[in-house]
Amino acid sequence: MAYSAMDERPPAVKRRLPGRARRRTDVLREYEKLNAEQRSHVPSVLWPFLAPDADRHYRWRVELSCGCITELLTYGDRTPPHERRWGTGWNGQPLPPGQLYCKHDESDPVPYREITEWKDRREVAFPPDPTEPPEWITTEVWAVLRHDKPRTEAFWTVQLECGHSTEVVAPSIGWKPEHGPCVADPVRVREMADEFDQASAADLAYLATLDGQHMRRMIAAGWPSPRPEQRCSVCVHARTIIAYQAVGWLVPRGTVPEQPTAPPARDALERRLRRAEADAERLRAQLARIDD
Ligand SMILES: [Zn+2]
Ligand SMILES: [Zn+2]
Repeated sequence: MAYSAMDERPPAVKRRLPGRARRRTDVLREYEKLNAEQRSHVPSVLWPFLAPDADRHYRWRVELSCGCITELLTYGDRTPPHERRWGTGWNGQPLPPGQLYCKHDESDPVPYREITEWKDRREVAFPPDPTEPPEWITTEVWAVLRHDKPRTEAFWTVQLECGHSTEVVAPSIGWKPEHGPCVADPVRVREMADEFDQASAADLAYLATLDGQHMRRMIAAGWPSPRPEQRCSVCVHARTIIAYQAVGWLVPRGTVPEQPTAPPARDALERRLRRAEADAERLRAQLARIDD
């Protein structure tokens, strides 16, 4: 599946963005209001971490891959916004560095992404299913699908190739990733392939959809369980910061006593170093071409 991982994306560029920053006093007032709310249910000893003073924040404007321009506040130092982690994806985990949620009314269909890592596992106990079928299912299908006894299922948190996470149900409670996916009976898979070919010949539009393509790949792979590729609903709204503009401190310096700024985080420095090394490599290649 052609998909470029986050680390391969071009770095965000620093430039002046169209339009203007919001009025600083408006942003400050909003921050103070939200912060007062936050402080009302956080012990004061934790304020520096969970509800810090406004004067430690720096303002940025960012342009996202969807074309939207928005504003961000960063705390403590002036590490650019695309080198930080924002928002939460599935399970409260932050998005990969440099991504931000921006929901649009019209969005792309949910893509399938390959699983790159199996992480945590949890077990969930379920009571027997009700005898009445849910609205969306016929009585005949429910008779086949219904679990009439209590059961426990294993859920695995997986990392996808896009850098986001999701959860996958294991084919059995004792299943482990090193067992590899279970595949269906080859005779049944051949029947499914024939049925799929007939159905997609009659509906070429379906075959062209992401779901149709996914079905085709899964049948070709012997109908594996768990499926090695999963739908990533985070991808639909997670945008990349492609450009940024420094706006200034939320509380102008000089009006408050200077405080020492915290050094940038280690992973932010490592990313900067990797980028600088890639730049140096590119420049060396250009020089070599000139010398030739
Ligand atoms: Zn947007
Ligand atoms: Zn994703």
